[in-house]
Amino acid sequence: MEVIKTPEAMQRRALELKRDGRVIGLVPTMGFLHEGHLSLMRLAREHCDVLVVSIFVNPTQFGPNEDLEAYPRDFERDETLCGQEGVDMVFYPGAENMYAGDASVWIDEHALSGVLCGTSRPGHFRGVCTVVAKLFNLVLPDLAVFGEKDAQQLRIIERLVRDLNFPVEIIRGPIVREPDGLAMSSRNKYLSESQRKNALCLWRSLRQVSELFEQGERETTVLRQAVVDSVESVSEAEIDYIEIVDDTSLAPVDEIKSAVLVALAVKMGDTRLIDNAGLRP
Ligand code: AMP
Repeated sequence: MEVIKTPEAMQRRALELKRDGRVIGLVPTMGFLHEGHLSLMRLAREHCDVLVVSIFVNPTQFGPNEDLEAYPRDFERDETLCGQEGVDMVFYPGAENMYAGDASVWIDEHALSGVLCGTSRPGHFRGVCTVVAKLFNLVLPDLAVFGEKDAQQLRIIERLVRDLNFPVEIIRGPIVREPDGLAMSSRNKYLSESQRKNALCLWRSLRQVSELFEQGERETTVLRQAVVDSVESVSEAEIDYIEIVDDTSLAPVDEIKSAVLVALAVKMGDTRLIDNAGLRP
């Protein structure tokens, strides 16, 4: 497995591979890998000859009061896991190599970025879109896999690819959960024992709303309130948002007539967790 640490070396290798007609698959991550990330690698592997995993804690997608410095990192462990998964190349650049000090070109998505996580994390998706575009230009992937765990991010990246004509196929990877239902996340590491137990309210509330939906409830005010009640019944849980939105446009929905996304962000102490589930009539 090759570990590549500079953007120039990555792009050079990618150009060589393209010249040889190899199909490149990319899984972008911020490291501190877990089964969710590994599942994306396995999915990408099915569709490519050369599997590239990027590990980069992208500073431009963190707000000034967010956890950039504290974000968990363990490159040695990540490298071992990538090796075990048969990854061909790990792209592990430093932030100083990825952004010029006076970088002044950014990518803003304007239809899907202003809701859900975009409201509580202004500038977040601008950082995400910009770094993903840069990764596409450096790794030159034919396909890239992103997780449904970050449902809004996934839809924004699909827009980015469509609207800027990136020749990259985006593949959606399903959410991987702990045995008790908590969606896997590098940030779960921050949780205390009691917060870890209480964090199950996200998954529990999504299950409850799915059951109500299966029983025929279609009014989103009723469904949303059930999620709110379920999360509020848990100590330490502070709702950032709970929304039921159209699966494609992310616009609010009153009565469910087509696919929607139930998306929530909940703070457990200082740790902000997100989760989501789709409902399809
Ligand atoms: P991150 O390292 O958190 O930036 O995530 C990198 C990629 O892994 C993103 O496409 C995420 O959506 C995806 N991902 C993170 N957690 C999970 C999970 N529990 N299941 C599936 N994909 C995930």
